[in-house]
Amino acid sequence: MRYCHFERNGKSAFGVIESVAGRDQITHLLSGRPEGRLADVARERIDPVSLEDVRILAPVQPSKIVCVGRNYRAHAAEMGNAAPKEPLIFLKPPSSIIAPGENIVRPKLSQHTDYEGELGVIIGRRCYKLAEDTDVRPYILGYTVVNDFTARDLQRKDAQWTRGKGFDTFCPVGPVVTDEIDPWAGVGVQTRVNGAVRQDGNTSDFIFPLDVIIRFVTQFMTLMPGDLIATGTPEGVSPVQAGDEIEVAVEGVGTLRNPVVDE
Ligand code: MG
Repeated sequence: MRYCHFERNGKSAFGVIESVAGRDQITHLLSGRPEGRLADVARERIDPVSLEDVRILAPVQPSKIVCVGRNYRAHAAEMGNAAPKEPLIFLKPPSSIIAPGENIVRPKLSQHTDYEGELGVIIGRRCYKLAEDTDVRPYILGYTVVNDFTARDLQRKDAQWTRGKGFDTFCPVGPVVTDEIDPWAGVGVQTRVNGAVRQDGNTSDFIFPLDVIIRFVTQFMTLMPGDLIATGTPEGVSPVQAGDEIEVAVEGVGTLRNPVVDE
């Protein structure tokens, strides 16, 4: 199932997206913010609504955004870092989230801001201290697209990454959530700037697969329904300027587009 969070006539709702007559349309409303397994979420049929007739909102409102650093060997190398021996985890604040189409604001405090196209994972069930042999799939609600936007100069300057990763607008997410892909089998993660391909990776190149990441994180924090995991970016990061448009496309999920503006 694929769904989006949208606004129409001043009201917001979660809607199932299906292809009707060859076009993606909203065909059902969900009873609320989905949790658990998408297959079990109650839905109510409606007259199909075209995606052009709604405003797409961010699909998640997580208690925290858990990010994986250097999860692709080639990206670690391009940044001058060795591949990590265990997952490198940091947080972005939920206040950094914006919807598809909203402006990413380059702060005056930074002279170097990079996109980072990533697969996003949304947690469906509370989990803590998952054992080594636990199947993590039942804890995953679905997958989305994330741009882990970064003030690279501040990330390098500060002893930790809170400021470089945490500005408002630094976490575009969406437009849809789906449970119809399998990152273990490999899905493409591509970033384009003004139409030119800059990153073209695949989750089959993860240093740490999703099950290792989720089990690792739950050894020290509880993951809650709706929490978002940004799984790391492939090689090809580079700076963007005001006026650029960034598109992050995850195979089988969709394309996240955001323009860049200056503060
Ligand atoms: Mg990242």
